[in-house]
Amino acid sequence: MPQPTPPDRLETSQQLNSLSTPQPLLNLFSTPQPLLSSFDFLIVGAGFAGSVLAERIATQLGQTCLIVEKRNHIGGNAYDHYDAAGVLVHDYGPHYFRTNSQRIVEYLSQFTEWRSVEYKILSWTDGKFWQFPINLNTFEQLIGRASTSAEMEAQLAEWRVQIDNPKNSEEVIVSQVGWKLYEMFFKNYTRKQWQRDAKDLDASVCGRIPIRTNRDDRYLSESFQALPKDGYTKMFEKMLAHPKIEVRLNTDFREARSQVRFDHLIFTGPIDEYFDHCFGPLPYRSLRFEPETIAQEFFQPAMQVNYPNDHDFTRIVEIKHATGQKLPATTIVREYPQNFGPGREPYYPIPAPDAKALYSKYAERAVSEKNVSFVGRLATYRYYNMDQVVGMALAEFEQIQSGKRKVEWSEWDERHRR
Ligand SMILES: Cc1cc2nc3c(=O)[nH]c(=O)nc-3n(C[C@H](O)[C@H](O)[C@H](O)COP(=O)(O)OP(=O)(O)OC[C@H]3O[C@@H](n4cnc5c(N)ncnc54)[C@H](O)[C@@H]3O)c2cc1C
Repeated sequence: MPQPTPPDRLETSQQLNSLSTPQPLLNLFSTPQPLLSSFDFLIVGAGFAGSVLAERIATQLGQTCLIVEKRNHIGGNAYDHYDAAGVLVHDYGPHYFRTNSQRIVEYLSQFTEWRSVEYKILSWTDGKFWQFPINLNTFEQLIGRASTSAEMEAQLAEWRVQIDNPKNSEEVIVSQVGWKLYEMFFKNYTRKQWQRDAKDLDASVCGRIPIRTNRDDRYLSESFQALPKDGYTKMFEKMLAHPKIEVRLNTDFREARSQVRFDHLIFTGPIDEYFDHCFGPLPYRSLRFEPETIAQEFFQPAMQVNYPNDHDFTRIVEIKHATGQKLPATTIVREYPQNFGPGREPYYPIPAPDAKALYSKYAERAVSEKNVSFVGRLATYRYYNMDQVVGMALAEFEQIQSGKRKVEWSEWDERHRR
């Protein structure tokens, strides 16, 4: 739908540099505009979930989308920007893209080139840096001499606590490596991060971290590990640069819902907020990020250093190790977990049985909402990685395209995995 061009229209896509074909303008408005108009789709949130769906609907169905985003930028939590020192920083914590899905790589590659990265992290405890996740090098540091996979396996077999079906995060780690390594690397980190003991958290929280008896010291195991070459924000700009997509920043859904006519709503914000917290607020964990620019090329020996047992922060991230920027200065970010409350961002749904039980009440109500899709991490109250949210959005698009409503993104993921 053609719109007048107000003076604050940000013509960001004119500056895009790597796609050879001319791109349409990104219809992005940063100050409140009159919303009285009608669109085929109203999309709440310009993160991965909202942006992938807008892109698909505009390019494949030729239908109009209005994205309302309450923050002052696109990209959701994956947003990145160049700070005053010229360092590309991830504003909402480091976002390490990884996936096993070739289909998702192909989809996103329409909007970005990639820089291959092997994400490496260390853990600081007992006054020194340790190789992490636990691998043969960590074991050698611990015993103070060279070793082998066979020796490490035999030792872990001795330390391991016999638990057939680990039910929580403490059990999942002690059943693999025993109490000593659990206490060195996991126990206090988890408590600091979640303000709950590992035994009160789903097994998946600590279970996602690999434990290896070889020398593979990569943080992650997925086959594709890379960052968008020019950053996430540039990738989102390309995704959203379509005449049928309009983006209104600094605009809350509550303001937009009464002013815009639309046939279908795609909601990617917190599901409890959508239902006015009718069953009570869902618990979330929040974070405070403290950036610091330092006049030296690098500050620490790895992209991420965990602090399980020292300080109030959980980790220091120096993303420059991963982006490969060549600059005389660097920016580090200290990450402090904090309670969620007014004025704070709901970063992590709490992966525990009580929170899941409350969410299921909202999920039940969501099923009977007509012409509304709940997509993404906050709308489905589950910690998903970026690739999983892209998969979920592509699955939802298929349902919208075929006129069906209910979506199981995991089925879609299974079908397209090659
Ligand atoms: C600290 C941290 C580190 C992470 N690291 C990784 C990583 O290394 N690798 C990885 O794969 N994933 C990582 N993730 C997960 C990743 O951020 C998510 O998978 C992804 O951002 C989810 O996209 P989304 O669109 O569902 O949600 P979001 O990115 O949260 O986008 C939702 C958007 O909706 C907007 N919104 C909410 N309510 C309203 C409203 N009422 N009105 C208007 N707008 C609204 C929000 O402002 C937000 O921009 C990390 C997450 C966090 C918090």
